[in-house]
Amino acid sequence: MSRHRTPWWILLGLVLGARPAGAQEAPSPRNASYVMAVRLDPASKTLEGRQTVTWRNIEAAPTRELLFHLYFNGFRNNHSSWMREDRLRRRLDPGERLRPEDWGWQEVKEIKLLPEGTDLTGRAEFAAPDDGNSEDRTVLRIPLPRAIAPGESVSVSIAYAAKVPRTFARTGFRGRSFFLSHFYPEIGVYQEDRWNCHQFHGVTEFFADYGSYDVELTVPAGWVVGATGREVGRRDGERGTTTHHYQENDVHNFAWTTSPDYQVRETRFAVDGLPPVDMRLLVQPEHLGQVERHFAATRAALEHYGRWYGPYPYGHVTIVDPAYGSRVGGMEYPTLFTAGTRLYNPPRGGSPEGVTIHEAGHQFWYGIVGNNEFEHAWLDEGFNQFSEGRAFETAYGPEHLVRRYLSLPGRGRGAGGFFPLLFDELTVDRDVRAMNAYRPGATSDIEAHPTFLYYPPGANSITYAKTALWLMTLERMLGWPTLQKIMATHFERWKFRHPRPEDFFATASEVSGQDLTWFFDQVVRGSDSFDYSIDSVSSKPGGVEGWTEGDRGLAYRKPGKADSKLFHTEVVARRLGGGVFPVEVLLVFQDGGELRQSWDGQDRWKMVTADRPAKLRYAVVDPEHKLALDLDTTNNSRVLEPAAALPVVKWTSRWMLWLQDLLATFTFFS
Ligand SMILES: [Zn+2]
Repeated sequence: MSRHRTPWWILLGLVLGARPAGAQEAPSPRNASYVMAVRLDPASKTLEGRQTVTWRNIEAAPTRELLFHLYFNGFRNNHSSWMREDRLRRRLDPGERLRPEDWGWQEVKEIKLLPEGTDLTGRAEFAAPDDGNSEDRTVLRIPLPRAIAPGESVSVSIAYAAKVPRTFARTGFRGRSFFLSHFYPEIGVYQEDRWNCHQFHGVTEFFADYGSYDVELTVPAGWVVGATGREVGRRDGERGTTTHHYQENDVHNFAWTTSPDYQVRETRFAVDGLPPVDMRLLVQPEHLGQVERHFAATRAALEHYGRWYGPYPYGHVTIVDPAYGSRVGGMEYPTLFTAGTRLYNPPRGGSPEGVTIHEAGHQFWYGIVGNNEFEHAWLDEGFNQFSEGRAFETAYGPEHLVRRYLSLPGRGRGAGGFFPLLFDELTVDRDVRAMNAYRPGATSDIEAHPTFLYYPPGANSITYAKTALWLMTLERMLGWPTLQKIMATHFERWKFRHPRPEDFFATASEVSGQDLTWFFDQVVRGSDSFDYSIDSVSSKPGGVEGWTEGDRGLAYRKPGKADSKLFHTEVVARRLGGGVFPVEVLLVFQDGGELRQSWDGQDRWKMVTADRPAKLRYAVVDPEHKLALDLDTTNNSRVLEPAAALPVVKWTSRWMLWLQDLLATFTFFS
């Protein structure tokens, strides 16, 4: 990139900013658009960049300032808010030493207001709106000399330099492999008459307006590049470099990767009823045997999410298989995502299929529907976790085998870091997998609280697993056709926009035709957990005087002669958690007869009685397991005599699975 050349990007930026008619026809508001040029120097691990950002005020109030994220400063030193939070999360290995070249930073060198060219560099200042941390430099506030009125556009050109960190998480270098996200100054979102521009936090990072990106990436000649968008041109430059030109519309972020080591494979997704998608895979040479598995999993996401929620509109997607140990696996960016696999990877090991479906799925929940991830990460991560499990099950079968591994403790956490020392094969349902992740942090936070304020060690449990479980609960309560319609309606209404939680709640109640406030009050606005159990069962010969449930409903009975042939059965169900959910209590008798009673679940316990000619065999609360949020299903049933216990056997095996998961290291992708 040349700093002294005619600034063509300024001209293009002005063109982009001055076409309100075109913007109205576009799928998204396109009110935050970038024209940028970036040069990577792999030797010094630095970036030099210049960009023109054209921003249009789509709110009803004027503003006299612009706020930008400078994410790379989260890696500047130990005092950034990201680093402080990450220590709580314990992402770094114990005793891990950082070298000077490991840190990253970003310096804004020049800011000019266009077209007049007013120099704003000296006015800019760092801000810490979330925690007041004066040492955090991840938000830059730029006061403007004039107000930007509603509907008005403004363009600023920014020159910056950045040091690429070694990857602490998601972005950085590993050897000569570079994955670059959040590398440029990113404008925040002006919403409800204020700037929503959070600092860089340990567990959340995305919220930006949609726009057009026109990006030139300069790297050593011969290096493979993958990026958001399509490559529209390429030219060789001086000193052995090549500049790759990428463009994309209606996205809210831009990421790219480059390495001389990637192998490139391409194919096309084409199914009836959905638009075709060109798939490009950048794969590590040692993983060439897994190419088709990456494509198959991506196809599964594009097809099932596309049919359930709405079609993928961009026509192309880039899948990145990151370098071993690079810590960038399992992340989503518009039209590009990182998967992650292992060298020795038997079929159906859960990876790369699970992570690939998850990250491809983020193109829908995160990419197309762009909620505020800093504040409500569950709206994308939780929806995606639920959808990933459902797509996996649909594509690979509900009773798929999952090979499980024990990992070497301490080193190499994250995708690519597991050694398959030992494994066994088990059947794992998607609700069991979600529950295993939810249980350790079940009550650690109220889901409705801003995600960036979650207690970091419990954040994944709430954001991903709890949301997936309450969506499964809704699926079983309302039926999949209704939940699918709810999610498709939400998708259609909020694609290329920023939905809030209340928007989803309103759509859910509207589409289902019932007021679901009581449900969201508990699962999103509360932190209580759910646990229903069968506390005691008894079944004895002879009747007992009192009110009892018979074949014709509740009746007062006095024991008579005939009662000597009856068994008096008493079952006590209890609500052990704070959460309330309507359940059924099912009594199954030894003659095969059944008694099923509804319970609104409000009281702390309920007794079900029966006088029947047969003894009780077993009792179950919530026999269809509609309440996927139930923390402990091992107490959901009880048999009168241990020999008779078919349903309990199944739950017992799940219990053992849970114990195994407690012993295994569990890492989450994003
Ligand atoms: Zn995710």
